[in-house]
This record gives sequence, C-alpha cells and structure tokens, in this order.
Amino acid sequence: MTLLAGSIGVIFGVANKRSIAWGIAQAMSAAGMRLAFTYQGERLKENVVELAATLAGSLVLPCDVTSDVEVAAVFEAVERELGRLDTLVHSVAYAPREELEGEFVTTSRDGFRTTLDISAYSLVALTRAALPLLERSGRGSVLAMTYYGAEKVAASYNVMGVAKAALEGTVRYLAAGLGPRGVRVNAISAGPVNTLAARGVRGFTGMLKHHAARAPLRRNVELREIGDTAVFLASSMASGITGEVLFVDAGYNIMAV
Ligand code: NAD
Repeated sequence: MTLLAGSIGVIFGVANKRSIAWGIAQAMSAAGMRLAFTYQGERLKENVVELAATLAGSLVLPCDVTSDVEVAAVFEAVERELGRLDTLVHSVAYAPREELEGEFVTTSRDGFRTTLDISAYSLVALTRAALPLLERSGRGSVLAMTYYGAEKVAASYNVMGVAKAALEGTVRYLAAGLGPRGVRVNAISAGPVNTLAARGVRGFTGMLKHHAARAPLRRNVELREIGDTAVFLASSMASGITGEVLFVDAGYNIMAV
C-alpha cells in the first residue's frame, strides 16, 4: 500500500506493543509514511526505541505533553531531522487511578485539572506547535483518539469521559480554525481495546465482554482496524473530511435496546 508514500508523521502515545498508537504506527508505516515517535519519561524509552527500530527510518524523542518546552523541542527536531510534517497523531490520555474508581461526584479539583490538561488541552498545545509544519505540508492533518464515554455515561470512566467530551469539542474548534489554512483535524472513537491505559478503568474486562456481546459485529475491534482508519483519515482519500469523530467500534454506538 502506498497511500501515504513520501509523507512524514509524528506519533504521541506509544507505551508498548498493545498501544493504539503502535497499531496506528504500523499501519501508517506500511502505507509508506516515515515516522517520529515520542515517549513519556525514561521508564518508557526502551520500549519505544525497540518498537521504533522495527520500522524503517524512525526518529524517537522524549516528550511529556504537559511541558511546552519538550513539545516545542519535538517539532524542532522533526523539522531538522525529517524536513517536513504531514500528520500529527495524538494518542495520549491520563487520569489519576482513584478518579477512575469511585463515584464521579468525588472527582477532585486536582484530578479534574490533570486529566483535562493531559488528555484534552495537550491536543491544542501539540497542534499549535506543529502548525507551521502542517501548513507548509499542504496536506497536513491531525488525528486524536476518543471514546464513546464522551457522549454517554460509561461506568467508572468518570472524569475521563468529561475529558473526551472536551477533546471532541477541541477537534471541532481546531478544525474550524485551521481549515482555512489547509489543515484537517479529526478523531477516531475506538471501541475498547485492552491496553495499559484501559486497564486503569475499574471493570474494564467486563466492558470488553459487554461491547463484544452488544456490537452488531459481535466482537471487539482490532488494533489493525483502528490503524487502517487512521491511514484513511491521514490520506488524500479523506481530503474532504474535517472536524469529524469517526467510530471504529464494531457498530456498538448505533445500538439502543
Ligand atoms: P496506552 O496506555 O497504550 O497509551 C496512552 C499513552 O498516553 C501512553 O503512551 C502514555 O505514555 C501517554 N501519556 C500519558 N500521560 C502523558 C503525558 N503527560 N505526556 C505524554 N504522554 C502521556 O493506552 P491506549 O489505550 O492505547 O490509549 C491511547 C489513546 O486511545 C488514549 O487517548 C485513550 O483514551 C484512547 N482510547 C483508548 C481506548 C481503549 O479502550 N484502550 C478506547 C478509545 C480511545
């Protein structure tokens, strides 16, 4: 497949081989895109360096998305080392564990602030830092990862659902602002996938079973399916699509009773 041949992407959010960001990276690389990866903190560096080494010509950089200095350094390095940028993938989320266990009404001010900063505001910060490169690309696009808990209440998802609602609003506002500059912004709303972040949500295994039983396709989604949709959204085949939240959830979201 050569849908993304000659293009450059940067992917935020690989922690290990189960990460949705890694599924997206594999699909984008197979479609011809050269990639830069970021890792959050020394703890994850080795994992990301090892995975990136399996793809041709990848660059690996540190970045905690709460640091404007580290964010700026990523795009400076991408410009210096890779010369251009066509696609930014935001696959980052965090909430303190205790906020994903109790009742939503107990959400702390600090927990709310941290969750919204890392999981939603960071999309604004990353997009702003990437903008000169994305504009210059002429086919620049941004992709974020969201979940149905933004729209409907999912047990124990709590403040992360509120952060995803903010993230989806952010996608629309960025898309409206950046469309005239030729940059598209979209999100994929993925069905549940067994990742490090997901395991922080109390009752996640039950959620996986519930989704598989109720979804029209009677199963959960695979990383490959999320990755393939990411390739489509980054490609010229999606050149008329911006500000959208596209479900890749085996159809779960269409069901009422
Ligand atoms: P994951 O744990 O593999 O990825 C989460 C990533 O966020 C990690 O790489 C982590 O290092 C990064 N991160 C957290 N805080 C950060 C910070 N301060 N700076 C930089 N990076 C930081 O889990 P995942 O499930 O692949 O999550 C990726 C995205 O997909 C998230 O936005 C998540 O909400 C979303 N999503 C996940 C599911 C699911 O069921 N797993 C479903 C829909 C959407």
